Amino acid sequence: MISEQEIYKVLLFEFPYFKKINEEKRILLCQRVKYFIEGTDFIPKKGLDITNRMKILIAACSQQLTLGFKKHYEYAYFDKIIVYPEKYLSTHTEKYHSGEMNTAGIVVLSWEDFYKGIKIDNDARNVGLHEFAHALEFMDIANKDVDETFAACLDKFTVFADYYLHNKSDKPLFRSYANTNLSEFFAVATEYYFESPNEFAIQEPELFNILKRAYKQNTAPKAPKLKKPTIEKTKDVVFGSYIPLLNYLGEIVLYTSISVISIFIGIMAPAVGIIIFVTSFYFVIVFFLKDSFTLHKMYVQIHQPLLKRIIKKVLPSKYKYETDVYYSDVMYVSAQEFDFNNKRDLLSQYKEGYWYTLCHVQKGKIYYAKQSTNDLNYDRVLRFLYREKMVGTRIDGEYKKYR
Ligand SMILES: [Zn+2]
Repeated sequence: MISEQEIYKVLLFEFPYFKKINEEKRILLCQRVKYFIEGTDFIPKKGLDITNRMKILIAACSQQLTLGFKKHYEYAYFDKIIVYPEKYLSTHTEKYHSGEMNTAGIVVLSWEDFYKGIKIDNDARNVGLHEFAHALEFMDIANKDVDETFAACLDKFTVFADYYLHNKSDKPLFRSYANTNLSEFFAVATEYYFESPNEFAIQEPELFNILKRAYKQNTAPKAPKLKKPTIEKTKDVVFGSYIPLLNYLGEIVLYTSISVISIFIGIMAPAVGIIIFVTSFYFVIVFFLKDSFTLHKMYVQIHQPLLKRIIKKVLPSKYKYETDVYYSDVMYVSAQEFDFNNKRDLLSQYKEGYWYTLCHVQKGKIYYAKQSTNDLNYDRVLRFLYREKMVGTRIDGEYKKYR
């Protein structure tokens, strides 16, 4: 059993972050480190002897990220930490790694690299923070217990990160590994957030501010406040102006035709007319009250075969998934229809929500528009699709509208 006093002593001497926080936070950190160690299986590899000191430092690194959280700070899903003495050959990539996050609930670390990461605290390299950031992100994607604000900020961060990756500056702040994909971008940005905060806050204030809210701690309290946003409004997808009008027109045409047909039949055979009118009225009411979006979908499906053919011509051939189609140049993707292969487990967890991504297709490029019955799920879908490379490489939208 490791005592809080022992933890305090180790952290005071060996964990630079500990010196930057106040006494109250230090005590909290020690309590959480103890709790984390008690719930975690530390598995040594290659003859390594895992000491209490090592456990304390690894646990502290994980708790550094979540110290601002009131709950869900304990990485409940990740209960195993494998520690190698130095870089190890990954069976997954057949390359030497200094750490990795395994979706089975395991964090793998090379002790040598981990220790270097925490010891040098101003080089924006910290494999511990990097892997635990991946762990937090995974818990969010897989709907494990994760702080709600963190999850919402992560969604927003992804949108900005995507913009950043597609509009690379001449003097990028982050090391090139961040460009690998959006997950790596987030993990690397986390390292910068804790180890190079002032530079980060000055150079990329939007990203910095999102992480500040995500981690609920300010690593650069003296940095100048955000001036004006540097992200400009990109191509505006005209969605709100003409589409609702079309929707309503479509509905009016639909209801009028139903009524006219009912009246017409009603003259010849009143009973049949009444039945048709009542039934259609019932469906209209049910759909409308339930969710007017469903009604639009119903309308869309009437036109689907023709529009599907159009969209197939517009879309590049690599998009083989099924699409439902909203008016001619707007693609309505229902995520349930994607082939996620072995990602079925993840997908099934998302199915409960509305999984609709509305995209706008123009000259073979896909633009998305913010339009969903559930914004949070929408963002998550989008993020997931980015990562699975199921959405085109160039995606623009109106970033400013994001929360
Ligand atoms: Zn990584």
